[in-house]
Amino acid sequence: MTDLTADQDAVRSYLCDLAPEARLITVHLGETKNAMLDHQKMPMAAKTLCEELVAAACLLSHMLKFDGEMILQIKGSGPITMMVAECSSAGRIRSTAQWTKVGAASTFTDLVGTGYLAVTVNPIQGERYQGIVPLESSSISGCLNHYFEDSEQLNTKLWLASNQSTVGGLLIQRIPEEGGQSLQGHLNWETLSTLANTITDHELASDAGPLLIYKLFHELDPRGFDPCTIKFGCSCSRERSARALRALGETELEQLFAEQPTLTLDCHFCGQVYQYDQADLEWLLSDQPPRSDTLQ
Ligand SMILES: [Zn+2]
Repeated sequence: MTDLTADQDAVRSYLCDLAPEARLITVHLGETKNAMLDHQKMPMAAKTLCEELVAAACLLSHMLKFDGEMILQIKGSGPITMMVAECSSAGRIRSTAQWTKVGAASTFTDLVGTGYLAVTVNPIQGERYQGIVPLESSSISGCLNHYFEDSEQLNTKLWLASNQSTVGGLLIQRIPEEGGQSLQGHLNWETLSTLANTITDHELASDAGPLLIYKLFHELDPRGFDPCTIKFGCSCSRERSARALRALGETELEQLFAEQPTLTLDCHFCGQVYQYDQADLEWLLSDQPPRSDTLQ
């Protein structure tokens, strides 16, 4: 590996010639995470957790290699009541959170309380799948490692860390051989796990890319594959926001418009504002697409 820079916001995978039974995935996010969250004005503690959650979504999306969206959602009893992070197979990420008064809460457990983390695979084609793990660990990575232990037949571990300007993640997974069985290679798998455990949060947050892989695994001859660039983007649309209004039903919609001339729906992910007035009521109550003159 000659290019060791990790300044690109990307997820990358690697194989080691001397440890062929495992693959490695890194994610590094800098400017993208700020573009994704800066407009949301959330408390710093919530922002940091959203960054780690989206980094984890990038790792899991890349690990599973499917066309569609990987969605990680935390719901808990703490001051951060909900967090969600998505990564599409095209590398589009978005994240948001809901919170009450965060105050002095600073640890993961204090911030989210008790609840669960849901891992949702939403493929473009095929069935949606969801797995759940309780919030019984002191970090997002801890919860996900529990999830892997409970649900994955393949050994999988991940690490996450962030600082003010970047967030990084590393995932290692044992590769199944043909027929679905894991290769027998305990020595190398254990070596990889042991080496990965030597990462410091500082290294992971700032160098999660070829440089980190080289630092940790250079004796195993790692080879990197083409990076998948990560970018912030939102899948919201006027039509999608209208669905939320349609779900209220005719009577309630008519009542709302009788009370106020304009209904406003904000997308929490990107800040886009969608407005509807009395003239939109007819198509809202039909299955028609938005009137072209009101498209935003
Ligand atoms: Zn949006």
